[in-house]
Amino acid sequence: MNGVDYKMKNYDVIVIGFGKAGKTLAAKLANQGKKVALIEENTKMYGGTCINIGCIPTKTLIHAAEKGLSFDEAMQDKTAVVERLRAKNFAMLDAHVDIFVAHASFVDNKVIAIQVGDEIEHLHAEIIIINTGAVSNVLPIDGLTSAKFVYDSTGIQHLDKLPQRLGIIGGGNIGLEFASLYASMGVDVSVFEAGSTILGRYEEVARTLAKEYMEQSGITFYLNASITRVDNEDDTVVVHANNNAYSFDALLYATGRKPNTQGLGLENTSIELTERGAIKVDEHCQTTVKNVFAVGDVNGGLQFTYISLDDFRVVFNYLNGNGQYTLSQRKNVPNTVFIQPPLSMVGLSEEQAKAQQLPYATKELLVANMPRAHVNGDLRGVFKVVVNKDTKEILGATLLGSQSHELINLITMAMDNHIPYTYLATQLFTHPTMSENFNDVFSF
Ligand SMILES: Cc1cc2nc3c(=O)[nH]c(=O)nc-3n(C[C@H](O)[C@H](O)[C@H](O)COP(=O)(O)OP(=O)(O)OC[C@H]3O[C@@H](n4cnc5c(N)ncnc54)[C@H](O)[C@@H]3O)c2cc1C
Repeated sequence: MNGVDYKMKNYDVIVIGFGKAGKTLAAKLANQGKKVALIEENTKMYGGTCINIGCIPTKTLIHAAEKGLSFDEAMQDKTAVVERLRAKNFAMLDAHVDIFVAHASFVDNKVIAIQVGDEIEHLHAEIIIINTGAVSNVLPIDGLTSAKFVYDSTGIQHLDKLPQRLGIIGGGNIGLEFASLYASMGVDVSVFEAGSTILGRYEEVARTLAKEYMEQSGITFYLNASITRVDNEDDTVVVHANNNAYSFDALLYATGRKPNTQGLGLENTSIELTERGAIKVDEHCQTTVKNVFAVGDVNGGLQFTYISLDDFRVVFNYLNGNGQYTLSQRKNVPNTVFIQPPLSMVGLSEEQAKAQQLPYATKELLVANMPRAHVNGDLRGVFKVVVNKDTKEILGATLLGSQSHELINLITMAMDNHIPYTYLATQLFTHPTMSENFNDVFSF
């Protein structure tokens, strides 16, 4: 820039991207009296990925399918929920924050350019928060981007009719959740996974059962799949893998998501990237430029909404003169794959405890032995826990079964607070509940 730009607007804080961390920081800092601008490039993304194209629409569809709704009814439910939350998110910020609908890019370390109509405006702030999320990875498979009926996780949420045969490239969380969802709606689903296993991070007993349940629901797995080409034949999309051809009405590629830094103008700044293309941050989520922070998926951390929210805590804490809560103080991070039944995990698996040479013990309990499972009419699953025999601490838990996405948070709380497993073994739980089974599974 040459001297002072006459269209320059000054803010205390600029947030780029309407994600979980960004919107929460914008709201909290504005409440503290700061002048805050938030820039979001897509009017259909107020509230970010989670609300519009991630957690909320996918889980609404899964819930609708579990209730037995038709595809059209499930899609209507999903649209209604997303539109309601998107509007709520916009209204919550709009009262306190200047929201710009534009693509933001850095002009220098402290100045952001946005295009508003035909004009470029420049915004300046001492504190800038980058919360631009992640985008789908596209593998270099011949025809993947040019063939018809091929979708990423966003596109597949806008199908106007239920496919009869769905192919999915990628057996990770997102691929498996869509596989489980569509299979529950009666679709013939095939998952192509390059690795020799799915759910490899989870306890073997749980991942073996989970795979069996998915197969029983109509999902076919092609492991060690090597896809050479994707093309169309008549009204189908064809996947060429391991010298065979497989035809589908729709194909989803779910092969990971990468930090979204494209078009951000980082080359005009001193902000550095990691080897994997994420924005490099320190313990306070601060980039290599002082007072420029990167939060959520774009900084290369675990891609969960609750991690983005926790990044907010780290930055908010730092900006309020108390940098005591940092990334290294983050405690146990639980996770759930929302297949049917859901698979959840926190802490170490037995294999990891063994590798660390800890004095561990394990216990397993089949869901079929749990009274509440009989009430629910769903006997599928297993709970497995790993404990330290000496310290009595819980080292980890893997829960496959109905409500595991809720139960895992209870175990995380015990682990974070060093509550010994012996406490859960004798704690009073209401009955009949799934959580009461912690009495048994933690009895050694
Ligand atoms: C299908 C799917 C299912 C998922 N399910 C779960 C789940 O069940 N549980 C869970 O915890 N997580 C889930 N996730 C992950 C979760 O959605 C993300 O980790 C979370 O939303 C993190 O978001 P964020 O804060 O990084 O930013 P995001 O919410 O991704 O927001 C980034 C925003 O920045 C905007 N933007 C980008 N570049 C620019 C620019 N240059 N200028 C202006 N605006 C810009 C984008 O339009 C977007 O709105 C899922 C993700 C997907 C895709």
